[in-house]
Amino acid sequence: MNNPNYNRRINERIRRRRRRATVLTIFFFVIILLSLLSVFAVLQIREHLDDREENNPPDITDQTVQTTEPADQTTTAPIEQTTAAPETDPPAPLVTYTTVTLTRDAITQGDLILVNADLPYTFPLTEGHLTTVYGNKSRGYQLGSAQDKLDTDVLAALNTAADAFLAETGETGLLLANNGAYRSYAAQEDLYARRVAQYGEEEAAKYVALPGVSEHHTGLAFDLALYIDGKTYALDAFDAYDWIPENFPRYGFILRYPANKIAQTGIGYEPWHFRYVGIPHAVYMTANNLCLEEYINVLRAYQATGEHLFVESDGRRYEIWYVPFAVEAETTSILIPDGVPYSISGNNRDGFIVTLTHNSTAQ
Ligand SMILES: [Zn+2]
Repeated sequence: MNNPNYNRRINERIRRRRRRATVLTIFFFVIILLSLLSVFAVLQIREHLDDREENNPPDITDQTVQTTEPADQTTTAPIEQTTAAPETDPPAPLVTYTTVTLTRDAITQGDLILVNADLPYTFPLTEGHLTTVYGNKSRGYQLGSAQDKLDTDVLAALNTAADAFLAETGETGLLLANNGAYRSYAAQEDLYARRVAQYGEEEAAKYVALPGVSEHHTGLAFDLALYIDGKTYALDAFDAYDWIPENFPRYGFILRYPANKIAQTGIGYEPWHFRYVGIPHAVYMTANNLCLEEYINVLRAYQATGEHLFVESDGRRYEIWYVPFAVEAETTSILIPDGVPYSISGNNRDGFIVTLTHNSTAQ
């Protein structure tokens, strides 16, 4: 039974069979690999052709411009993916734009208009943008006069800010000062004359603007004071109310005439006078110690085709740029990406400031 020759032959045959099986396995594996590679190559070529189609020059319609932009300039570009970088660039997202056309007189209106001794306010034809505070205010503050009016959106922002103050501090003494909100030209004339009679022309001019150049004409500004136990105090009389200048920027308000900006504003320190400019602008100006005169100049560095200013506040991301109005032009056009909330304000001097509100800073 133990024939060595017989055993060797058997072993030889087994080895040959195994070799053949191995060679066949490798052969089939190579065939499968080659088929997979060719399918992948075909897919790559088709994807490349698709890319080229999408990058063709867009059709320009009369109102809507369609274009693709590099990711760093688009506003709706997705956050860069960190997983599995594809071998070819993904197609740029298609962003559509709407053209907003503005005439020169629009420069004089908006939340960011600069009104000072050099730049008078242009009164609109109607007072339709104003709302009487009485009957429309929130619980967060008291009212000095039933006649006071504010810009409708500014009143809403004040209500929100004052309620936040009340909720966080429990203090109930905040007061919208009597005659501290909107003033017509005649009301400012009257106030100025009374202050001159009281304090003399030089002293009056430090705190009361001449009729026509007062921020109180805009409906965007108001004076705050305190009314506690039947007495009126200045806003900065008690520490508990420091919350106001510290937190009002988050609601769009700036302390318009700070002590360290008298040379720029031309107005003495007014701890009571607040001005609405919009959330990202108030946050940026306060954080960077800029008064409105300075901020309007700073924004010149951020134009449509260049770098934009980005500001983050309370989980939102804002994009800001400046559009100068061409001297001889009748209108100016601004491209706004569709689907992004925006506002455009004149600067009351020579152009517009565009503000986009992106959904959130999360991701
Ligand atoms: Zn004031």
